[in-house]
Amino acid sequence: MVKRFMRSWRKVKTLLLLFMLVLGLTAWGCSSDDSGDNKTTITRLLMDTRVDLTLYEVDKKASEQIAGEVFVEMERLEDILSRTVASSDVARINQAAGEQWVEVSPELFFVLKKALEFAELTEGAFDPTVGPLVDLWGFGTDHPRLPSGEELQSVLSLVDYRLVEMDEDRSMVYLPLEGMKLDLGGIAKGFIVDRGLDVLRDFNLQASFINAGGDISMHGEKPSGEKWTVAVQDPKLAMQDSQDSYAAVIHLEGEGSVVTSGDYQRYFEENGQKYHHILDPADGKPARYVTSVTIVAHDAMTADAFSTAIFVLGREKGMALLESLSGIDGMIMDKDDSMYYSSGLEDKVQILTQESD
Ligand code: AMP
Ligand code: MG
Repeated sequence: MVKRFMRSWRKVKTLLLLFMLVLGLTAWGCSSDDSGDNKTTITRLLMDTRVDLTLYEVDKKASEQIAGEVFVEMERLEDILSRTVASSDVARINQAAGEQWVEVSPELFFVLKKALEFAELTEGAFDPTVGPLVDLWGFGTDHPRLPSGEELQSVLSLVDYRLVEMDEDRSMVYLPLEGMKLDLGGIAKGFIVDRGLDVLRDFNLQASFINAGGDISMHGEKPSGEKWTVAVQDPKLAMQDSQDSYAAVIHLEGEGSVVTSGDYQRYFEENGQKYHHILDPADGKPARYVTSVTIVAHDAMTADAFSTAIFVLGREKGMALLESLSGIDGMIMDKDDSMYYSSGLEDKVQILTQESD
């Protein structure tokens, strides 16, 4: 039996980052890019992933101070929204499921409210109550496993966003069934990146961006006037750990976010079969229609939720949804490696020649 587990930071290869993993340190580096823009990148491990903060035209000392403030805010939000932090709002809500209402912070209230709106809009393809399923599969642990059909059936009734109760006046949340569990893994990172960028924005920088393991938000204009270029992984090559593993690039101007959900980001293998972490709430199994979805939106929270939702919906329903919404575009990679993108990306996407081996 072959069993292998990959996590989103599987590409963290350098000694520097291994060192950081052990010590939780920050790394930084200054460089000039091809266009001669002066930029500083500061890296920290947060949210179980590598977070890069890149600032343009700021000296090292100021960069460190700014990054410090951004990371403090991102860490604060992680402590509210992460399931694995025992004192987080999410953990307390889950703990009290079927028993009592829980008072929560405005941030949790906001993200959960948005998550329920996205769930409604995607008819449950995105569902922040997938917690029991995620636990059954063991994603987020070192021991993921293939659950039986009966096990999946036994928790499906606990996965239903329509059951979540929220009381705005008292800022309280209640999960009515024992065993229900929130999991904001499909949206929280985007929200935290947005809030990090809000902190950056207050410094009135010429340009900056945050890349949290593929959840990217950028702001401002590079000194050279060059557009932002975001590379999109080729899922197949990413699985093989290939160096040149990009399938396309997206060129963007000004402010915006790009988020990708892919079957290569977190998965395990059992008996030659791959099982990834984006679950279809309808049957509890990894969604099987596409291999990656990249969403371009004004903010990373929206892009994050839609990348997960459209991964579950598949190409036809996903594309129809994208075309029906303004301000949200996307690119979908099908099982047969074909790429599709919504009309808003037509003049922004550049497909790279793919070499297969
Ligand atoms: P992402 O990488 O943004 O697509 O989010 C995947 C993560 O979201 C998983 O690791 C789970 O924590 C959670 N998740 C999985 N399936 C769903 C779903 N159908 N709706 C909402 N969240 C999900
Ligand atoms: Mg997501």
